[in-house]
Amino acid sequence: MFRAVVVVAALFVTPSAQSVPLDVAIINVGAGGGRLITGATGDAGAARGAIGIRGGRIVSIGGADGTNARAVIDAAGLVVAPGFIDVHSHGLETLGRPELRNADAELAQGVTTIVGNPDGGGPIDLAKQRVLLEGDGGIGVNVALLIGHGTVRGAVMGGANRAPTPDELAKMVALVKQGVADGAFGLSSGIFYTPGRYAKTDELVALARAAGGVYTSHIRDEGNYDVGVVASVDEVIRVAEEAHVTGIVTHMKALGPDSWGLSKTLIVHIDAARARGVSVFADQYPYEASSTSLAAAVLPGVSTAEARARLSDGARKPALLAEATENIRRRGGPHSIAIASTRDSALDGKRLDEIAAARGVSPAQAAIDIILDGGASIVSFNMSEDDIRAIMRQPWTMTSSDGALSLPGEGVPHPRNNGAFARKLGVYVRERKVLTLDQAIVSMTSLPAEVFGLKDRGVIRVGAVADIAVFDPAKIVDRATYEHPHQLATGMSFVLVNGQVAWKDGKGTGARAGVVLRK
Ligand SMILES: [Zn+2]
Repeated sequence: MFRAVVVVAALFVTPSAQSVPLDVAIINVGAGGGRLITGATGDAGAARGAIGIRGGRIVSIGGADGTNARAVIDAAGLVVAPGFIDVHSHGLETLGRPELRNADAELAQGVTTIVGNPDGGGPIDLAKQRVLLEGDGGIGVNVALLIGHGTVRGAVMGGANRAPTPDELAKMVALVKQGVADGAFGLSSGIFYTPGRYAKTDELVALARAAGGVYTSHIRDEGNYDVGVVASVDEVIRVAEEAHVTGIVTHMKALGPDSWGLSKTLIVHIDAARARGVSVFADQYPYEASSTSLAAAVLPGVSTAEARARLSDGARKPALLAEATENIRRRGGPHSIAIASTRDSALDGKRLDEIAAARGVSPAQAAIDIILDGGASIVSFNMSEDDIRAIMRQPWTMTSSDGALSLPGEGVPHPRNNGAFARKLGVYVRERKVLTLDQAIVSMTSLPAEVFGLKDRGVIRVGAVADIAVFDPAKIVDRATYEHPHQLATGMSFVLVNGQVAWKDGKGTGARAGVVLRK
């Protein structure tokens, strides 16, 4: 009965709809060796013809040609896929800058949506953040917000290293709920960092339950600083299970040579949790280096004031240097740490062993001196290729960049900012064949859309929002390197954001068609 009604309605709708011009037609889909990858598993390559877009949505697949469209994109020989979703992005920290609002670095990789406020951070007032992003000419990509646990804890408890009182917990719950009311898709935590690290698991369960949706965590320990990476992944599983939310081990890795090979154990634990019905996922950026602050890497949990006090106290100085030396060793030694950005820009790009040798001090002393001189962000080479591949192959692993938006000349940041998605397609699919193209696309589109509840996105079907990436998989290249990280990715032909052409023939159109999404 229902089906019959739909057919009758379609008979009336179709002729008048055809007379209304399409905003965009993507023609020759599937022609000349090209393919449509819808994002849905096992559904690749079925459709041929054209994709019609009107009012920001896909209104037809397969039938229409381009004669009735205001803009035509020829996809012959190219792959047409849903726009990519970056589930861990620091882009919001700079997206509001006028010169970065177009988000060209994201569009160059086919990214059409970024999930912001990761690692427990971001502002407390998401309504205000939304207004800032939507105002002033808008933004080039869609944004999904999270409410940060560290931000909420800091607002209620400052830097207190203790459990919350019932009253404080109630205040944190209220702030988390306000964040969700303002559109957050869930809670992010960064419990490696201060003040998030002062939270016990019970607090995280209570706040994740208050948030609902996802709980995405920069885990307590990605290597072997204290509880270890296995117990830290188990903690995400426990939060997901007890709070009845979807847990995400964000930028999953086994950090430092002591932890290499542990990806096997992590995968066993996540698979076992999933087998008993716990909703747990991970995301990953495809690099052997991470990026964080020098202080967090070398002296986690030690404030600058405390470090300064201990350094000037002859009795306590040796223990401080020993702690720093051990943490540098855990990450792979002083050559494995490169300064990304610090006050003295002459140090940008230099390795810690080089800096120490030039100054005639130990690497630990050099690191502490830089921390006390205002700190630094670093690129830290600490992962093994085997672990990267093992984590990448899991059907529950999404793609992320963990990157920010930056302009040339601004330090020597991690190349993931400008290359993560292109590198996965170019290096890990095309060259190393760790994943098929279809698997990689799912990890960037339909999987994150489902996990985060991004309705009508991450998939190509009639009725879905027209976030679309059109590219030649043979030509996608991440050009950002550790030495020259500001080079944008190449090979993306066209990108549509909410039905508007945002990237065309390898260049941004300045469309700023992104919106701040609501749960
Ligand atoms: Zn992180």
